[in-house]
Amino acid sequence: MSHVFHRHLNQDYPTAVKGDGPYLIDSQGRRYLDASGGAAVSCLGHSDGDVIKAIQDQVGTMAYAHSSFFTSEPMEELADFLIDRAPEGLESVYFVSGGSEAVEAALKLARQYFIEIGQPQRKHLIARRQSYHGNTLGALATGGNAWRRQQFEPLLINVSHVSPCYAYREQRADETPEAMGVRLAAELEEEILRLGAENVMAFVAEPVVGATLGAVTAVPGYFKRIREVCDRYGVLLILDEVMCGMGRTGSLFAAEQEGISADLITIAKGLGAGYQPIGATLVSGKIRDAIANGSGFFQHGHTYIGHATACAAALAVQQAIESRGLLARVNHLGDGLQARLKERFAQHVNIGDIRGRGLFQGLELVTDRTKKTPFDPALKLHARIKKAAMAEGLMCYPMGGTLDGRQGDHILLAPPFILDNTHLDEITLKLGNAIDTALASL
Ligand code: PMP
Repeated sequence: MSHVFHRHLNQDYPTAVKGDGPYLIDSQGRRYLDASGGAAVSCLGHSDGDVIKAIQDQVGTMAYAHSSFFTSEPMEELADFLIDRAPEGLESVYFVSGGSEAVEAALKLARQYFIEIGQPQRKHLIARRQSYHGNTLGALATGGNAWRRQQFEPLLINVSHVSPCYAYREQRADETPEAMGVRLAAELEEEILRLGAENVMAFVAEPVVGATLGAVTAVPGYFKRIREVCDRYGVLLILDEVMCGMGRTGSLFAAEQEGISADLITIAKGLGAGYQPIGATLVSGKIRDAIANGSGFFQHGHTYIGHATACAAALAVQQAIESRGLLARVNHLGDGLQARLKERFAQHVNIGDIRGRGLFQGLELVTDRTKKTPFDPALKLHARIKKAAMAEGLMCYPMGGTLDGRQGDHILLAPPFILDNTHLDEITLKLGNAIDTALASL
């Protein structure tokens, strides 16, 4: 018996032993095309020579220096690289080890900012239903995903959840996409006013929703209106780009495509591309200056802040994406993937929606396309699809529908940016087989 505390305790996992470009290979020699980048992580595939060399060089020189004693060259260079390319107003970077830590840091920075500027009563957070921002308690409280929260509800801070921008199910029959955006921005405004604007600290949202909805983009204009509402009431906007950032949707930051900036942006996953665990919170000059000119100290911290090897790896990843022109490739490959998915699944009786941006694509499964009826969650269709896909030699990221029936099972695809068209064909073929095998097993 394995002594590892695996996520599913009664399940056997294949042993991954080697990476080869977009493939992972297990101890039996089976090859798996990584069409989900794990969980939207491995944007450069699994054997990038430049990144491996950067890690080896850094480990050989100095693996780690604790951030309460030193800064380091890789940390400073990576911060410069990110801020040079970040949306307007973001001026410094707080480095952590992953997405949940980045969200926790953003929440605490928001809180401390209001203390520093003499508004300590601002402590209320607003986020969206069907959202995921991480599994640590603050991040879990922020997310609105009922299934993940359920058992831990008594431990969670109080967060308001407004409607997600989820056009497939929540756009009204008599409503244009723009009108939907107006309605949802008004809903946020109402919630701010209900709580008392002077008490609200921040609104948190993913520009393109990953884990809970499956590559759902907002309707045009939604985020501009959200930004306006936040500004009107002095509420900070935190954009969680842990999944959709770092080029995944075709621009380095997903916010760029919404034409807005944020007070805080969280990133992780594609930042280090899985070569090292790393995340970060990008901080606006306004927040940084308030803390710098106030107490001068952010009351937070982790042992591995700005880990030198992780920063060197992330810098090499980001330089590779830029120098090889991979963002243009993400857009091109994303179009190719979506076209193939539409060709294969647009008429499929159980595929209700095909959506996404760049190499971040999602499919939602339904029992009835006209009524958009989700499958019974007890059938665990998503788990059946994952199993069938692994048997096909394909990694994809299926997730269950919500407990309240507001959403069905869906599949997220987030492959590496280094694919070619033959890989797109392979993804489509294997995914089609896996979905049909899983449906036949019901
Ligand atoms: N935010 C978002 C949007 C995510 O998708 C995730 C991970 N799926 C997290 C936060 C948490 O990141 P991590 O798993 O690295 O803690």
